[in-house]
Amino acid sequence: MNQETSKIPQATAKRLPLYYRFIQNLHSSGKQRVSSKELSEAVKVDSATIRRDFSYFGALGKKGYGYNVNYLLSFFRKTLDQDALTKVVLIGVGNLGTAFLHYNFIKNNNTKIEMAFDVAKEKIGTEIGDVPVCDMDELEEKLEGANIEVAILTVPAHSAQNITDRLVASNVKGILNFTPARLSVPDHIRIHHIDLAVELQSLVYFLKHYSEDDTEM
Ligand code: ATP
Repeated sequence: MNQETSKIPQATAKRLPLYYRFIQNLHSSGKQRVSSKELSEAVKVDSATIRRDFSYFGALGKKGYGYNVNYLLSFFRKTLDQDALTKVVLIGVGNLGTAFLHYNFIKNNNTKIEMAFDVAKEKIGTEIGDVPVCDMDELEEKLEGANIEVAILTVPAHSAQNITDRLVASNVKGILNFTPARLSVPDHIRIHHIDLAVELQSLVYFLKHYSEDDTEM
């Protein structure tokens, strides 16, 4: 995200990609304006929150008119740096890693997995979803000058920290960690942790223990 938006609260910033995706859909269907109520129903965020979020962007809706779709679209594109392609590296081409290589991120996001790494000899040298799978031994060499700042980690938990240290040393700034490992990194590195097993367990727990009225978190 660019500097202009550095004052936006984190909770608001996290909702930006959600808004962006919906506004893109509206734009491609030729819609010119949208009300906070319509947005609210589509993205499942209450309209007061949407109005507050949008006020941070300087997007002021008019009563009875709503928000201008073109304005919002260009704002989100700029804010989310959608005009520049973000290159991503993926480490660990197992079941989950392979699924990501097949997934077309560029469809909704301006991100692209440029290369993948693994230690398994039978995987090295292959291409999955047009992405070359390289030897983990060549990580530093291949990342040098490649301008890749984001990594997706889909390796076994026990090797996650060591790989993280190598990624950080190779100028990676953000890591999407799909392993259960809790990673230690310097302050300037951003880690987003997605533990699918924990998320699933937590969903099941909430379904079992909370009634419909208080499920909102
Ligand atoms: P698979 O069925 O292909 O083994 P998986 O997701 O069940 O997939 P994991 O044991 O989680 O297997 O490993 C994920 C991937 O990470 C595998 O392809 C494995 O070869 C690779 N891997 C393991 N250790 C490392 C490492 N140190 N560096 C890079 N890749 C690694």
